[in-house]
Amino acid sequence: MKTKAYAVQNETAPLAPWTFDRRDVGPHDVQFDILFCGVCHSDLHQIKNDWFPGIFPMVPGHEIVGRVVKVGDHVKKFKVGDLAGTGCMVDSCQVCENCKRDLEQYCLEGSTQTYNSYERNGKTPTYGGYSNTIVVREEFVLHISDKLDLAATAPLLCAGITTYSPLKHWKVGKGHKLAVVGLGGLGHMGVKFGVAFGAEVTVLSTSPKKEADAKALGAHHFVVTSDPAQIKAARATFDYILDTVSAPHDMNMYLSLLKTDGVHICVGAPPEPAQVSAFSLLAGRKSLAGSGIGGIKETQEMLDFCAANNIVSDIEIIDIKDIHTAYDRMVKGDVQYRFVIDMATL
Ligand code: NAP
Ligand code: ZN
Repeated sequence: MKTKAYAVQNETAPLAPWTFDRRDVGPHDVQFDILFCGVCHSDLHQIKNDWFPGIFPMVPGHEIVGRVVKVGDHVKKFKVGDLAGTGCMVDSCQVCENCKRDLEQYCLEGSTQTYNSYERNGKTPTYGGYSNTIVVREEFVLHISDKLDLAATAPLLCAGITTYSPLKHWKVGKGHKLAVVGLGGLGHMGVKFGVAFGAEVTVLSTSPKKEADAKALGAHHFVVTSDPAQIKAARATFDYILDTVSAPHDMNMYLSLLKTDGVHICVGAPPEPAQVSAFSLLAGRKSLAGSGIGGIKETQEMLDFCAANNIVSDIEIIDIKDIHTAYDRMVKGDVQYRFVIDMATL
């Protein structure tokens, strides 16, 4: 079916209107019209080939919410008119050890990403949420509550699950001191979940002007990382660090802020590898870890948790024609705290 979108034709081109064909709705597919799509820093990394050579033309967007317009004959969980969402994945092998453990994001055959990826046939490119409609197999479509603001729910599909999943995995909660590094799209959700789970939360930021916002989001403390006195005072104080930084940064400095047995969890994905001294880890038996989005079951659990606890993203709604201004502001750290595209402006 004809689909309207914004795409980049190569890694130096700007996003511009483009149309393409999506597959027709198969027996196990759900088609939903996209109402809102969040803007993730991963969109920018990918259109710029920051991580690996991309598949072009590329339609970014993996924080997608909308309303179901068609379902296949065998679809059981959705009906026309339901709210629906899709995050970073649209498929996986479904049979490997990790898929069976509800960890489709770590599918041993490689999960199919929502864009900049190929369908299971290995040749049909996938196109993301900067578009007017999407067709996804039922297992990868999430139920969205009508109790929450729909636009502010979109970022939960990536920024939300990416911060919820590691905090759950490491059982971060009451009695723990959690530092969230970087107050952007992921970081502000990390603060909200950390606070909701009962942890004492500190934001470690390069932006002194974000202190009031951090506190309003529920953070208990705020540390400006460019101030040596504040860093010295924070040394060996955290049980966990949730690192959401999108650019190269000094891991050894952040590791020095962990207590003995502390864990530094990387969710940010800077293009360049980090330099980590063994001494930063062995002095204090520290762990350096990472986490990628979350499985479908956990994503639904997170969405249900957010509906029950009235948690959404703090957003700024934009017209799609202003996407490059939004990217420029995101790169400068000037994001409060997630841009969401109103797809009616496509
Ligand atoms: P974002 O909104 O741009 O936030 C990143 C924040 O990091 C900035 O607001 C800034 O916060 C801080 N920062 C930026 N450059 C920095 C530097 N050089 N040193 C220290 N701090 C810096 O980005 P996002 O959408 O949250 O994404 C963050 C990263 O996570 C990206 O790399 C993205 O690709 C990745 N990601 C990973 C997953 C996963 O599955 N693991 C999922 C989604 C996204 P302050 O102003 O507070 O310093
Ligand atoms: Zn994302």
